[in-house]
Amino acid sequence: MSDLLKKSAAELVELLAAGEISSVALTQACLDRIAEVDGTIHAFLHINAEGAIAEAAASDARRLRGELLSPLDGVPIAVKDVLTTIGQPTTCGSKILEGWIPPYDATVVRKLREGGLPILGKTNMDEFAMGSSTEHSAYGPTANPWDITRIPGGSGGGSAAAVAAFEAPLALGTDTGGSIRQPGAVTGTVGVKPTYGAISRYGLVAMANSLDQVGPVTRTVLDSALLQDLVGGHDPLDSTSLPEALPSLADAARLGAAGDLSGLKVGVIKELGGEGWQPGVITRFDESLELLKAAGAEVVEVSCPSFVHALAAYYLVMPCEASSNLAKFDAMRYGLRVTPSGDPSAEDVMRASRDAGFGDEVKRRIILGTYALSSGYYDAYYASAQKVRTLIQRDFDAAFAQVDVLVSPTAPTTAWKLGEKLDDPLAMYKGDLATIPANLAGVPGISLPAGLADEDGLPVGFQILAPARADDRLYRVGAALEALLEKQWGAPLLSQAPALEGASK
Ligand code: GLN
Repeated sequence: MSDLLKKSAAELVELLAAGEISSVALTQACLDRIAEVDGTIHAFLHINAEGAIAEAAASDARRLRGELLSPLDGVPIAVKDVLTTIGQPTTCGSKILEGWIPPYDATVVRKLREGGLPILGKTNMDEFAMGSSTEHSAYGPTANPWDITRIPGGSGGGSAAAVAAFEAPLALGTDTGGSIRQPGAVTGTVGVKPTYGAISRYGLVAMANSLDQVGPVTRTVLDSALLQDLVGGHDPLDSTSLPEALPSLADAARLGAAGDLSGLKVGVIKELGGEGWQPGVITRFDESLELLKAAGAEVVEVSCPSFVHALAAYYLVMPCEASSNLAKFDAMRYGLRVTPSGDPSAEDVMRASRDAGFGDEVKRRIILGTYALSSGYYDAYYASAQKVRTLIQRDFDAAFAQVDVLVSPTAPTTAWKLGEKLDDPLAMYKGDLATIPANLAGVPGISLPAGLADEDGLPVGFQILAPARADDRLYRVGAALEALLEKQWGAPLLSQAPALEGASK
């Protein structure tokens, strides 16, 4: 593997600026790596080889003229296949959108283009972002680069695996209940769910609009900050987008990397941990807490009693919104159309197309959502879930009145075996226990690698949560912890991942 691939995006920016590498050479190195390992990892659903090289050549030409478009101009990126891209298919991991090429770019994709980042391709995901393992993709699962018999997390397993396998220095994901942070945790990468509204959702094919958020998937905290700085900000095309800009997140990350956390108050969420959590996860989490203390932070325990109901509330709110969102896939305007024999009515065509086009998990959630929204049940289920949501928001408000950030392990376990939880949806859902509260309340969260669990040698994620609009705190504290951990390890965690040389051959 080319040494170039191991560099962070921030390091690549410097090499590009110094003229030591070209964007074309860098992009080609990524494409070569994809050719080498992606037959095994299957992080990508679509590879934009020619397009990416042309975009890289344009970046190199701009650099010669001294006309850079953004700090990340020339650094290649992979994009989750739930974000629309002109000229590249957008399937959302579903058969119902196989071959669909959108006529418009998601705002974040437009910002990548306007920032000069070559787009390597589209990454694999659970169908319509429903899942925690990427096994619900209609195009086959993605493998975890640490152990290819294990899941890379989900729904954004493709973006996380692409970054963990050094196929791409940067990726974009989306997080409705943890789909950026949980894949980050189990692949040893960094993933951020920004404050709801901090990044435009325009062109993000909606699963649950009130929960969905686009965010960065990277190998370092600073890289995530650079990416959120680039794609964030107000968008008139998204009515839920925040009117004001956040402070520079890259500045916050650089400040944090100095490692001084004196005066910071950290709250450990009592309800997220303990019985049922993998011991190796808890051990690494506790060690990180000690590092935070050594850096001057005060660590206290905080109770968020309503968090125990978060999973139940999420699995009502999300399917309700999803069942409504997915109604538009009716074979009439675009997407798969199956015409039954005989003299089928429009409804027969819709039924046959949706039956053939959606997978089991999507159908399960459509049925769940439709049931919970039906008259007579609406108050008992959907309205109650919304009340729980308010209670969770109040727990966050009360906690943030006492502490600056909240922390927990990102996920209760490390990566499980492919197939292990596929027939047990509830067991799969439980992987999101720690990530879901942030989506229900709209607050931002980051997951960064905290080391490898003793039992299985697999990555453990450390989650930091901050109040809405205080994304800079995640980056400051995250960069501090990352610097302290790397000082202990002597190198980034991912340098210990299997090399996968020649994996596809
Ligand atoms: N794993 C969660 C689910 O299945 C979260 C998915 C997501 O964040 N898109 O719904």
